[in-house]
Amino acid sequence: MKRVAVLGATGSIGRSTLDVVARHPEKFQVTALSAHGDVAGLKELVGQFRPATAVLTDPAAAEGFEAWCRQQGVRALVGPQGLDDIAADAGTDLVVAGIVGAAGLSSSLAAASAGKTLLLANKEAVVMAGSLLMAALARSGGRLLPLDSEHNAIFQCLPFRDGRPDLAGVDGIWLTASGGPFRGRQLAELADITPEQACAHPKWSMGRKISVDSATLMNKGLEVIEAHHLFGLSADRIQVVVHPESTIHSLVAYRDGSLLAQLGAPDMRIPIAHALGFPERIESGVRPLNLLELGALHFEPPDLETFRCLALAFEALNSGPGASIALNAANEEAVAAFLDRRLGFLGIAEVVADVLHSAGSPAVTTLADILAMDAHCRALARDRINKAS
Ligand code: NDP
Ligand code: MG
Repeated sequence: MKRVAVLGATGSIGRSTLDVVARHPEKFQVTALSAHGDVAGLKELVGQFRPATAVLTDPAAAEGFEAWCRQQGVRALVGPQGLDDIAADAGTDLVVAGIVGAAGLSSSLAAASAGKTLLLANKEAVVMAGSLLMAALARSGGRLLPLDSEHNAIFQCLPFRDGRPDLAGVDGIWLTASGGPFRGRQLAELADITPEQACAHPKWSMGRKISVDSATLMNKGLEVIEAHHLFGLSADRIQVVVHPESTIHSLVAYRDGSLLAQLGAPDMRIPIAHALGFPERIESGVRPLNLLELGALHFEPPDLETFRCLALAFEALNSGPGASIALNAANEEAVAAFLDRRLGFLGIAEVVADVLHSAGSPAVTTLADILAMDAHCRALARDRINKAS
């Protein structure tokens, strides 16, 4: 029996994870669940999965929550510290990092330091603190299994030796991108895009922040930085290719000319089931593709002028870890402002570029350095957003 904590249980990744878990009651026991403000959603999941602990990170939403948990015989924790507690709990084997944004950093690090198997969707944590996270895993003997579909595909195409993926013989990787809802459009056509249009992804159903990131191609940019940390590859060995069918989830190019790819329906339950079951293969609830029904697959280069965020991410990766923190902080602030209708769609790239270029890339080594850089860049971004509105 694997004991699983799901952080961000009420989100898109959290619910897909619990969908797979529920198909295998003999294999998984849910030990802890967390939500931020969606108390009703969390209560429903607590009722279904009966975890030992339930965490609500937003104290403002917690009225009556602890009393309700007491009645259910469930330990309640309120506030963000609860995430670190359940991530490091001795009674848990697998920690699913399904929180969106920098809010997931501390608990991802806590799980890594405690030697857990970290099933990681929370790419922002890797972009901010990839070196710390990988070092913590190496020290503790923990293991990272990527849930992000591209990184999970790469992981599946690599041999696994001595507890980690082995890159001997690898030339580079190709990360595939759907191109998002605005693929093929020109810059001028994007000025009046609304949050509703940006969140209507053609292939994947996801949370609002990552949907906007997919529309700007920042999601692919964050994934390039994520791949750099997860697989130890320099930027020049990571290529992005637009593949609108989202059937091939990414590829590994080997020295001998072989390209290995992982294919599947665009449904996160596939990478999630892969990581939950690893090294065993378990059912995900998703039907395998029928190659005879697939039709043609297409590939094209990304348009880095219209979708400038992807170019900015490569620039950040080449500039050093401080720049990646700046990129992520500015993007989180800009996307939140766009979703709030305080910033236009094209303003997202403008804010990110401004913050990236004004913040520089100071040396960041400790968690305190990272959090200080993050706070500084968020302040720069908010200032820039206020001036734009
Ligand atoms: P959602 O917005 O659907 O879910 C986010 C989850 O995090 C919810 O449980 C939410 O709680 C919780 N949360 C939000 N803010 C905070 C906070 N400040 N502190 C603690 N918890 C918080 O996001 P997704 O599931 O789409 O994405 C989660 C992560 O996975 C992101 O990093 C994303 O990039 C990555 N990812 C997602 C994919 C997808 O298909 N969705 C694919 C690949 C990666 P509440 O519901 O209570 O607000
Ligand atoms: Mg992805």
